[in-house]
Amino acid sequence: MQHPDALTKLTLREVEPFKAGLADMVEEKLKEHLELDQVAKMSFNENPFGTSPKAREAIKTALDKLHVYHDVDESGLKEKLCRLHEVKPEQVLLGNGADEVVHMAATAFLKEGDEAIIPQPTYLQYEVSTLVMGASPVYVPPREYKVDTEGVLSKVTPQTKMIFMCNPNNPTGTMLSRDEMKAFLEAVPDHVVVLIDEAYFEYVTDPDYPSSTEFLEMGKLIMGVRTFSKIHGLAALRVGYGIGPKALMHTMARTRMQVNVNYLGLVAAKASLEDVDHIKKVREQTEEEKKFLYEVFSSLGFEYVPSYGNFIFVDIDTDSEAAALQLAAGGVVVRPGYLFDFPSFLRVTVGTREQNTSLINGLKNL
Ligand SMILES: *Cc1c(COP(=O)(O)O)cnc(C)c1O
Repeated sequence: MQHPDALTKLTLREVEPFKAGLADMVEEKLKEHLELDQVAKMSFNENPFGTSPKAREAIKTALDKLHVYHDVDESGLKEKLCRLHEVKPEQVLLGNGADEVVHMAATAFLKEGDEAIIPQPTYLQYEVSTLVMGASPVYVPPREYKVDTEGVLSKVTPQTKMIFMCNPNNPTGTMLSRDEMKAFLEAVPDHVVVLIDEAYFEYVTDPDYPSSTEFLEMGKLIMGVRTFSKIHGLAALRVGYGIGPKALMHTMARTRMQVNVNYLGLVAAKASLEDVDHIKKVREQTEEEKKFLYEVFSSLGFEYVPSYGNFIFVDIDTDSEAAALQLAAGGVVVRPGYLFDFPSFLRVTVGTREQNTSLINGLKNL
């Protein structure tokens, strides 16, 4: 048999199929692997305070419709999002998680010979989708942990088709303010699509934090990406969406599979959007626990990057690979910074008080 790799794009051979490392394992698997009864999984930026009770109820009532196909656009979720963002249905594209929206954008706009600018360190999916499309990732190092917008602009060439901006940025937790983002977007040439990933949008309380929807009226190729996996606590159901100018979303929609988002996810996401009180409570609890962690990190002498998300990039001043293994042995799973080329850092999800206490005890024992 001919090796199938010989039939693929050269660039695709550089992409390794996803393989779960320790930080990617689900809780049950971690318990088994680590031989522990309890594990604090703080490596995924999930919402440990849980899903909206209203979303759970909505799923139950949807159970008798599982045998039929549904219309993703007519689920009621899209209508709700349009009202929320004051946009037209043609401006919203639902995806099987934010990841699929990122991938649809890459599929629509990137091909061999194109360049996509990816500020570092950041969320891995941008690079994966770029490589799968055969385009070339162009990396830009951070400035003080923040996206270096000047650096990004200096890398734009006629081949640049996309710029991936994560705001707030995962894993550093930094954000670009309204003024910074606006100045940046104004300077981006018209032949470039800017994707602004706002997976942690709902966690941000700073009034200087801009929504990508504020920039719609600039008349540029700018789109925002949101998810129900983080503050809404629906990661397992895979619902995200893109929002942007009609023409941009239309081009992207060409790549969409007809029934790309599952029915239970759509129903739950809609109910969760209606449960404003629950989301507010999660945000407040996260904020409180984040402050708690900041204080302990400071008292332990660890420097951290103040975060606008539900995770903290903290410098533990020692090898993160070894530290993450040692923490895991004690039942605390975090994302080691060496994966992002920050070898002495950890990215830790803000957990419940119990999880945070386990993390702190683990850090003290390092
Ligand atoms: C978690 C995360 C996502 C993934 O969202 P899904 O909707 O679960 O695919 C996307 N972008 C960033 C920056 C994230 O941290």
